[in-house]
Amino acid sequence: MKEFDIIVSGGGLAGAALAVALARRGRRVAVIEPTERSEPAQPSYDDRTLVINAASLNILRALGLLPDTLTRMPVARIEVSRAGGFGHLALEAAQHGREFFGAVIVARELGQVLLQAVENHPEIEFFCPDRLVSFETDQDKATVELASGAVLSAPLLVGADGNRSRVRKLAGMACQRHDYGESAMIFNIQAGLAPAATAWERFTPQGPLALLPQSGGRLGVVWIDRSEAISDTMTWADQRLMDRLVERLGQDFGGLSRPGKRACYSLVRQRTPWPVGRRVVVVGNAANAVHPVSAQGFNLGLRDIGGLVDCLEGQNDPGRDSTLARYARLRQNDQDSTVRYTDTLARAFTNPSRLAGLLSGIGLAAHAGWPTLGARLAQAAMGFREPVCSLARDPEASSQGQAA
Ligand SMILES: Cc1cc2nc3c(=O)[nH]c(=O)nc-3n(C[C@H](O)[C@H](O)[C@H](O)COP(=O)(O)OP(=O)(O)OC[C@H]3O[C@@H](n4cnc5c(N)ncnc54)[C@H](O)[C@@H]3O)c2cc1C
Repeated sequence: MKEFDIIVSGGGLAGAALAVALARRGRRVAVIEPTERSEPAQPSYDDRTLVINAASLNILRALGLLPDTLTRMPVARIEVSRAGGFGHLALEAAQHGREFFGAVIVARELGQVLLQAVENHPEIEFFCPDRLVSFETDQDKATVELASGAVLSAPLLVGADGNRSRVRKLAGMACQRHDYGESAMIFNIQAGLAPAATAWERFTPQGPLALLPQSGGRLGVVWIDRSEAISDTMTWADQRLMDRLVERLGQDFGGLSRPGKRACYSLVRQRTPWPVGRRVVVVGNAANAVHPVSAQGFNLGLRDIGGLVDCLEGQNDPGRDSTLARYARLRQNDQDSTVRYTDTLARAFTNPSRLAGLLSGIGLAAHAGWPTLGARLAQAAMGFREPVCSLARDPEASSQGQAA
């Protein structure tokens, strides 16, 4: 049996970032990941364009996970509009005291940085490809059995194994799950004229549509609709896709061309109200999954990681009940409000009823003319939600908002 300080099941975005954070604090960490590194179908590291907010950029930077070689496209302006309705809202980071809200990073590229850090850190042992099959806990430790037959033990087991978390299930944690009946299709596209450092969120009767800046004048598209409609859209010829995109956007960005490969994801909301058990905690999508409408999922996961690192600081026993309970209480408010906020946005703007349509138009108009609300949206977009973990704090006032 191999002994560690902490075992992390899942080497995706959340698991790998957490392992690096813990190892940098001197913990001996085991990471278990079923998908081989060279596998192009790694579920966490695909072609998704992630909006990483300013607080999350601080976390990644503090962990050495934001090298100069990693392409990131800053977002300084967010345009929110609704097709066929009143209301247009433009959020400018500069009006909220920052140069950028955050930056867009391709998940596959961030994944390479994360995996390299996991593989190179002397305090991390990477069990890959391997899979957690079962575990049991006693007063002092969790003992984990892997598909390879290896047995590991540690005072704390972390489940970072995604939506269908096996750790959460085996620990018997209650999880509220809602299937939106919607899917998100992603692809990127060349734009003739794409204003720099700008992201667009467009609410249409079929569902929200986001356009995110990528390098070389390309835009990452996140196109959300009912799941049956997305299955159909996935089969459309490129020209039909581009025509419909222009229609839904209400503008053509100087001509759209060369759409890239499409991928789709079904959308669920998940909330684990008490994400800790005896010697176990779940983080990332294993704990909470949100609709991508406001680009909050991984950002929330990173704030959880920052909160967990703070709670474990200076603790000889990282899996003590009182420490885990403190973590759960510390993170409850942010988790609750992020899941609720995202769910409200997803439902309010996609409800086809006329009343909801009218209200969402008024809502946008109100946001536009009501500075405190605009400020709240901007604050959420930057991710500095209280309590701000030590990794997310600005290293110094002069670097505020730096995205690069
Ligand atoms: C279309 C779309 C757009 C998005 N855009 C954004 C955005 O702009 N900003 C943002 O912050 N978030 C965004 N998100 C959310 C973000 O992708 C997720 O929050 C993030 O992927 C969660 O990472 P995770 O590591 O918790 O889970 P996952 O990415 O699901 O990774 C789980 C890992 O666990 C592994 N695993 C599975 N089973 C086991 C097992 N039994 N044992 C061990 N390991 C196991 C898997 O192989 C995988 O590596 C978006 C999501 C979608 C669908």
